[in-house]
Amino acid sequence: MRGFLMCNVSPIGLCKDVIRLKEFINKHHQLCVLTGAGVSTESGIPDYRSAKVGLYARSDHRPIHYKEFCASEKTRRRYWARNFVGWPRFSSFKPNITHMILKDLEYTGKIGFIITQNVDNLHSKAGCKKIIELHGTAFKVMCLNCSHKICRCEFQEILQKCNPSMVTMTQMIRPDGDVELSQEHVEHFNIPACNNCGGILKPDIVFFGDNVPHKVVQNVKTNVENSDALLILGTSLSTFSAYRIVLQAIDAKKPIAIINIGKTRADELVNLRVEGRCGDIFPKVCKL
Ligand SMILES: [Zn+2]
Repeated sequence: MRGFLMCNVSPIGLCKDVIRLKEFINKHHQLCVLTGAGVSTESGIPDYRSAKVGLYARSDHRPIHYKEFCASEKTRRRYWARNFVGWPRFSSFKPNITHMILKDLEYTGKIGFIITQNVDNLHSKAGCKKIIELHGTAFKVMCLNCSHKICRCEFQEILQKCNPSMVTMTQMIRPDGDVELSQEHVEHFNIPACNNCGGILKPDIVFFGDNVPHKVVQNVKTNVENSDALLILGTSLSTFSAYRIVLQAIDAKKPIAIINIGKTRADELVNLRVEGRCGDIFPKVCKL
């Protein structure tokens, strides 16, 4: 433990850490995989924790805060108006090579569970089945009052019916995934209430300031304990909910490997760290 090396994979040769990573994957028969934004950005999805980009958990140019969303109708109107306009693009992103390799590894029984911090459904779209969505999913909408859930795609059709004048705005999204809406568009945006109880509807995403549900935390803990090793892909582990998984794996004496661009919060704690894009490293590892 605590002896990690960093390397870049040159086109000429494979870094010895990539070979070590291959050995790591071969040696452990039941991997728990933790994925983050770095896996999704390679599909074109902006990292919503980066400045000025990313629609799905933001309102204007800053992350949406859970308490603010619950307390302010104005905030909810602004959020849903932007979310409505960005949805056709956001929902159309496709899985990339990393998602597909994970699907194959899951199929062969190598992966016990994939824990993802991403809310974009790309692991499901790739065909993975054993997924824990740590921060929820943008593909469901839930009622804050009765917890009734509906499909986000279905909700888009409801929003379209409630806001016919806004439909053309969905064509005007900027390449970075963001959108400018006028005050008038926001003020006149109609949000339907829960059809079960009339409550407030929110995407089934863990917003900033909100907690990961207890049963999800427990489920993650159990899966980490039941795995042989933890493989971390494309995350700096900046959120505590993700970093805690590393701490749980260390407590349970599980070996840990990371592929990421740049530093992570757990660099000093892991066995093996490979610097680079998952889409560059992971196919090399699996072809060796
Ligand atoms: Zn309800």
